[in-house]
Amino acid sequence: MGFRDECGVVGIYGAVNAAALSYFALTSLQHRGQESAGIAATDGETIKLHKGIGLVSDVFKQGHFEKLSGSIAVGHVRYATAGGRTIENAQPFVNSFKMGSIALAHNGQLVNYEELHAMLEDGGSTFSSSSDTEVILKLIVRKFIENGGKLGSCGKENFSKTENQKRFVDAVVQAVRMIKGSFALCIMTESMLIGVRDPNGIRPLCLGKVESGYILTSESCAIDSVNGQFLRDVEPGEIVVINRGGLRSIQPEEKPEKQTCIFEYVYFARPDSVIDGISVQEARYRMGEVLAEESSVNADVVIGVPDSGLGAAQGYARASGIPYGMGIIKNKYIGRTFIAPTQKERENMVFVKLNAIRSDLEGKRVIVIDDSIVRGTTSRRLVQILRRAGAKEVHFRVSSPPVKFPCYLGIDTPSKNELISSTHELEEIRKEIGADSLAFISLEGMIKALRSCCPAETGRCLEGWCKGCFSGEYPV
Ligand code: 5GP
Ligand code: MG
Repeated sequence: MGFRDECGVVGIYGAVNAAALSYFALTSLQHRGQESAGIAATDGETIKLHKGIGLVSDVFKQGHFEKLSGSIAVGHVRYATAGGRTIENAQPFVNSFKMGSIALAHNGQLVNYEELHAMLEDGGSTFSSSSDTEVILKLIVRKFIENGGKLGSCGKENFSKTENQKRFVDAVVQAVRMIKGSFALCIMTESMLIGVRDPNGIRPLCLGKVESGYILTSESCAIDSVNGQFLRDVEPGEIVVINRGGLRSIQPEEKPEKQTCIFEYVYFARPDSVIDGISVQEARYRMGEVLAEESSVNADVVIGVPDSGLGAAQGYARASGIPYGMGIIKNKYIGRTFIAPTQKERENMVFVKLNAIRSDLEGKRVIVIDDSIVRGTTSRRLVQILRRAGAKEVHFRVSSPPVKFPCYLGIDTPSKNELISSTHELEEIRKEIGADSLAFISLEGMIKALRSCCPAETGRCLEGWCKGCFSGEYPV
């Protein structure tokens, strides 16, 4: 099993300095991964790569952009579990050979990684990382050779030649049909950019215009960050090919079934993004409203856990008529708590990250909303923090259903026995976190909230979502 990645990807075609725009885009996708960052760019001759461990702003310095000149680029930010935090697994991956290079950035997780890895190794491929992403890259290379793209034996011939471009696109189509799991891909050669979204559209990918070209990226907030113009989401199973001839779409053979990850709306995506026609912030407001309808309680103030719980808290306040307060402040300068390598550090990091505002809480009955309970660590510490600040009662409300199952498709949820809702009943969890009452939104309630955000004209987003972490049923 490879590593589970929550990642952000970007691809730019046709900009004066594609790497610089990628840098801005990656900075806006930083919430999707803080472990490593990288950009590959081309001036049409060769692909240059720079990647490293850390935040986008740590990895890139002024000088790097002189090296990364050119109008096509792909970039990546990565979140990995502790074991995978090595430079070998940082993306993009680049494969260079005599006739040209390929760079690839991937968000998601393959489920048939081991099979494909074994098959490719039997066929002579070698691997430099433990990442499932390298499997995709090597598979594309393999298909390309099979299609008659002669690696290393055709001198100056390169990807800009029409027949090689066609062979390459065919290779991508063939490789994509063999991989199973979740994937949003940005792939480039010296002359083109290709975007791919898996047949269920599990991970998001959208398309925009920027300068005289295009941008492909995980979230629309990254298009805004380069002053681009959002065009549309890449459809589940769609392959978008961008080259000198413009933009072309290759549709899947079978009609895909849309199953976008519901956790993108709960926690993962930024509130200013719109995914498959649904505003992330609007979805969070609505989840909070439904939560208030489902589990009301008398209280003096409603507060949210920053940042991802704030939308639901405002929705809850709106629907219940109980005043909204700030109540909790978050230190902006530290990463998400999951990064702490051990349970002990994870627990204590909450105190550094979050603190209560006593004047908002003292002597009050408080409803506190978080977007999710995973291990239960954050909520237990939070209740302590709120009581320490004088809250008279603490009613915990969660705007997603209990996370009972691990995710095999790209979100870093711990194994089943670490998921508090998998091993404990509601009342046990309430006691464990020390709240006066505890309630989760129902799965039906969350779906109802999402559906109510779908734009009426298209109805596209009504099709469905992957709810594997709540239901244990996965699309692949
Ligand atoms: P817990 O402390 O229960 O393990 O985690 C719940 C908290 O973690 C919530 O505040 C939620 O916003 C956040 N959270 C939920 N899913 C993820 C994730 O995949 N990664 C990170 N870093 N945080 C998460
Ligand atoms: Mg949180």
